[in-house]
Amino acid sequence: MVAAEVRAGAGQPEGTSPAKGKVLLVAGTHGNELNAPWLFDAWQRDPSRRPACDLELVLAIGNPAARAAGRRYLERDLNRSFDPDRLADAGSRELEVDRARQLLADHGPAGADPCLVAFDLHSTTASMGNSLVVYGQRPADLALAAGLQGRLGLPIYLHEADAVQTGYLVERWPCGLVIEVGPVPQGVVQPAILQQTRLALEAALAVLMEARAGQLQLPRQLVLHHHLCSLDLPRHGDGAPRGVIHPRRQGRDWQPLHPGDPLFLSEAGETLAYDPPAGLGLDPVWPVFINEAA
Ligand SMILES: [Zn+2]
Repeated sequence: MVAAEVRAGAGQPEGTSPAKGKVLLVAGTHGNELNAPWLFDAWQRDPSRRPACDLELVLAIGNPAARAAGRRYLERDLNRSFDPDRLADAGSRELEVDRARQLLADHGPAGADPCLVAFDLHSTTASMGNSLVVYGQRPADLALAAGLQGRLGLPIYLHEADAVQTGYLVERWPCGLVIEVGPVPQGVVQPAILQQTRLALEAALAVLMEARAGQLQLPRQLVLHHHLCSLDLPRHGDGAPRGVIHPRRQGRDWQPLHPGDPLFLSEAGETLAYDPPAGLGLDPVWPVFINEAA
């Protein structure tokens, strides 16, 4: 966890005009996360239910085919399909890569109906409450996240320098972040999750309106949780899990984990303690996406 100073005025990407920028809202990037798409459907049926805001909003379902099938994705994760190299590779014809190309052609910064900011609305089975995921350290993203943290106190997961996971949707827009809400099972709509999603989105739009008016209120400090690594379950030689998340760790996202704390429970009922991977040292870490179904 790192606290960083925030400078007012850092929120406007160079060479862009926020006054003219549309805002892209994406729901259902993962087809089995149903809460944000449920809101979009309600707003399409009755636009008066949309969040009150004088920004021009463009709503898109990220992966309609996966949503229809009730699956996270069909051929590859759409939210790992936005690598510029992959998008430019004519040989990459997976359904999700083509969908990424279509979203960019429609609403990318150089698309037919261009948007400058993208909010990608997700849910998680982990007990993370409302949180933000920011990819890399673009000043505009950090300013937006700081404005939201100042309003709602949301924790921010800064995902960067992970060679295994790349190609996130919001990275292709000049400014954007992911709003994660949980816990909710995949394929389930719950009123509290709908409300949390709406609250975070309303706050995000309020921050953008402040920024456009030149009145962005930023907290003095920005607290970031840096991605360190992904920890897998303990496994047998054949790859089968030989343990589960320890009951004393389940549901404790955003809470510190110290070396020696219970982390897994083996098949034999033995507690397996957190043993820091090489390079992490003995400092506590703050686990997120604990036991996430995906
Ligand atoms: Zn998701």
